[in-house]
Amino acid sequence: MNDLKDVAWELYDAESIIISGHVMPDGDSIGSTLGLGLALEKIGKKITFTSPHPIPEIYKFLPGAERIHHGLPDGVYDTFVVLDCSVPDRLGDEVVSLLDRDIKVINIDHHQVEKPFAHVSYIDSKAASTGEIIFDLLKNMRINLDVDIATNLYTAIVTDTGSFKYEGTAPGTHRKAAALLEYGVNGARISKMLFDEKPIEVFKVLENALPTLNVSECGKVAWINFDWEARQKTGAKDEHTEELVDYPRRIKGVEVALLFRELSPGVVKVSMRSNYYVDVSRVASEFGGGGHKRASGCVLKGDISEVQKQVISAALEAVKRRV
Ligand code: 5GP
Ligand code: MN
Repeated sequence: MNDLKDVAWELYDAESIIISGHVMPDGDSIGSTLGLGLALEKIGKKITFTSPHPIPEIYKFLPGAERIHHGLPDGVYDTFVVLDCSVPDRLGDEVVSLLDRDIKVINIDHHQVEKPFAHVSYIDSKAASTGEIIFDLLKNMRINLDVDIATNLYTAIVTDTGSFKYEGTAPGTHRKAAALLEYGVNGARISKMLFDEKPIEVFKVLENALPTLNVSECGKVAWINFDWEARQKTGAKDEHTEELVDYPRRIKGVEVALLFRELSPGVVKVSMRSNYYVDVSRVASEFGGGGHKRASGCVLKGDISEVQKQVISAALEAVKRRV
């Protein structure tokens, strides 16, 4: 494991940098990508922003969002920065090919990284968001922030902490958010856009998914489904289904919540959340996925009801063992 100074030196040395976050990008992935890139431009670096998947509508207000390519843009780069992404798989089929080029790879993340894949890795699994690490990095590099950079980093922090509600939220998280607000970030507006306003599709998704909400006999595992048929019926995109996992999670007494989403026929993405004691990153890793203690996921191939059976049984087992 390297320290932030190593990352800083690599970035000082770089000239042409491509930055990417993970598949199905969230606010942390996008905000960190833009926050870092816009800051590095201030010290004269040539920056290309990309994302394995398109940017969800709700993040298009972020300064610089219109500059993010989708997939692998043509170009010559000397450095590839991978943010908020702990495994090459989560870079998607096209962006991942940058790892085969003869260029410097830097990984900055707050997920547990099992097998480092970069030349320089800075992993802080105590950080509640990658955005916080970028904040520290920019301070370390003595790059002055501005309202655009701060808006991106604030969004990264506020989304990955669920508006400062999740367990990983530390005093330092609030201090960094406060420092970012000093640059003129409109925190209230961002929260309204991200957590309050919803496109109509979200309500159509809810109407279809809520009837599938189910709780185990013991009352500690709950799940909800959004299968391919429901997806086609509603015309919903991934971004409209992300919050479904909060419904089983919010049932009183439930410890593990599961969302089963069919991404394409026979390909099921499972989102896992826990409330108090189960480490769902361990449950996800049984199925080739990963993540954090309280939020993790994996992608499985097979019939959705078969996938459900396997994952629910693993979740019940974890609850029983209290791990
Ligand atoms: P979500 O359920 O919101 O997609 O993901 C929650 C967390 O689980 C993410 O922050 C990420 O750390 C992790 N995660 C989700 N899907 C996968 C996956 O397919 N593989 C791995 N390694 N981690 C995942
Ligand atoms: Mn993150």
